[in-house]
Amino acid sequence: MPLALPTRSIKAAALVGSGLASFSRTRRSSEATILTFHGLSENTRDRGVLDWSLHLQVDAFRSICSMLAKEYHVISLADLVEARSQGSGLPDNSVVITFDDGYASNYELAFPILREFGLHATIFVATGFLDREEMFWFQRADLALGRTQKNLLDWKINGKNLRLYLGTYELRQQSLRQLLPELKELPDTDLLGEVDRLEAALEVKAPSFDDLPKPMRPLTWEMACEMSLSGHVDIGGHTHTHPILARCDVMTMRAEIATCRDRIHAELGELPSAFAYPNGGPDDFTRETLMLVREAGFKAACTTISGRVHDTVSMYQLPRYGCPETVVEAKATVSGAFETLKDWRQSCLKAMSMI
Ligand SMILES: [Zn+2]
Repeated sequence: MPLALPTRSIKAAALVGSGLASFSRTRRSSEATILTFHGLSENTRDRGVLDWSLHLQVDAFRSICSMLAKEYHVISLADLVEARSQGSGLPDNSVVITFDDGYASNYELAFPILREFGLHATIFVATGFLDREEMFWFQRADLALGRTQKNLLDWKINGKNLRLYLGTYELRQQSLRQLLPELKELPDTDLLGEVDRLEAALEVKAPSFDDLPKPMRPLTWEMACEMSLSGHVDIGGHTHTHPILARCDVMTMRAEIATCRDRIHAELGELPSAFAYPNGGPDDFTRETLMLVREAGFKAACTTISGRVHDTVSMYQLPRYGCPETVVEAKATVSGAFETLKDWRQSCLKAMSMI
């Protein structure tokens, strides 16, 4: 067992060990859970990548799928949307598996596991990434900080002066964690220019697609097509170039959503029915975004706001939990134990305020 477990893992272990997860699994069986994964990797100790939060170790994914296949009903997102839209019931303890962005590892590592356990998943793809037109800005930032020969960079952004220490791999990871939230705040029109300047200041070349470390590589359309035809995978939309939609003007937003839909249609011969907002937090999409996604013909859209899928949830703001890193964390999440704990805490505070 690792010496320093992250707080979420400790909390998850307590919820499972105390029996609260089993209790919640029974009490909250009518609520569905949507999980968000990104890529997978066979070796998350590889130092060619700084941010491993987007690429789960494949063994962990396999163990999570094995547990879900035994203890839960993994259903497709389309089935969940249809049941919720028509007010019909879902199987008890339903779980939906989703992946964002469109990494080749979804085909190379996740697809065989989904087939082995007979599970279904939706992969939300940024179509410009699959077209190999534009890699993600956060990949370029990761590689710029990871590959530079510099040991330090003072960087002014959003009126702040960041001192980015780059002397060791761990310091580079820490500096990236400092920089990414600031980059996410920039208007979409400024973001790529900022990454160009960052690469110039760090004296690294913009990477090419052939140059990307294995976990960062995109799916090919052939891979997407094969998975889609297998019946185990639906391909959903995630914009064309992966901007945070709330930082775009309405024309750009509309074009990003429509191009994504049209590229998937052209390559797979089917219109995608579900969409996922890039970054997906409450400030990352607007009322206009919801309207444009609906107008483009999508039947549902996922956020990354944590929560359970109740009867009353909006089909265009479906809550999703982030990627569990272990089976125990997955159990605490899909059982609803995290939510039960939150509810108890709120009831407790309410009761105390009445004393
Ligand atoms: Zn994404």
